[in-house]
Amino acid sequence: MSMSRRDSPFANAGTVVSVDWQDLSDFHTHGVFAGLEFQRHVEQTLFEAGDGSQKAPAQRLPDFLAGRLSTAVPGSSYIPGIYSAPLHALLPHWIVSSLQAGARQFDRKMPGYLTEEAVVIGTESRTSSPIRIPRDPETRMHPNVIGLFPVGEGAGYAGGILSAAMDGQNSAIAAGVWLGEHGNPRS
Ligand SMILES: Cc1cc2nc3c(=O)[nH]c(=O)nc-3n(C[C@H](O)[C@H](O)[C@H](O)COP(=O)(O)OP(=O)(O)OC[C@H]3O[C@@H](n4cnc5c(N)ncnc54)[C@H](O)[C@@H]3O)c2cc1C
Repeated sequence: MSMSRRDSPFANAGTVVSVDWQDLSDFHTHGVFAGLEFQRHVEQTLFEAGDGSQKAPAQRLPDFLAGRLSTAVPGSSYIPGIYSAPLHALLPHWIVSSLQAGARQFDRKMPGYLTEEAVVIGTESRTSSPIRIPRDPETRMHPNVIGLFPVGEGAGYAGGILSAAMDGQNSAIAAGVWLGEHGNPRS
């Protein structure tokens, strides 16, 4: 991790758990906003566990795996600061078990990954859009809005630079085909 001088003693990495529609059964009453409500719920739970400041809840990785509170947490690059919190109990249990399995897997591949110095800090609760704009898989056009081609991250079809680029390219080709067959819907 580095602000600009590339001299920070910390290495930072984000670990992502994917969240699918079936994981959100408790939030389905919110319809298309189920993902947003889930995100709000996770963020609020973690914020309310704190002291109202911007400090982030944290747990040493071995404690996170063992399900016990850390007696103290070491320094971190997170400027507002961190405090010891039971992340294993604050986060949804299925997210915790995925993160625990992932950390054990990392340690099998990179022995030494599970150290007392490794700290889990939560949470950044969004990677890609929690909402997906519907589109026809064939034409890649919105099923009800002629001429609207939802693409990329904001529309819920990508979560990174390459996936967004490939999604956009595929939709641009599909839009070209559609325009060639139907002409411009505005003219
Ligand atoms: C801090 C950060 C770090 C990231 N790091 C990585 C990484 O290391 N690797 C990786 O793969 N991905 C990374 N990502 C994710 C990646 O950048 C995005 O997933 C990707 O850029 C999304 O591309 P997109 O074309 O769907 O959307 P965007 O790149 O957001 O493009 C949307 C465009 O629409 C424009 N726009 C919005 N509203 C309107 C409007 N009303 N009219 C006209 N134009 C409008 C915006 O100005 C923007 O140019 C990172 C994202 C962030 C924020």
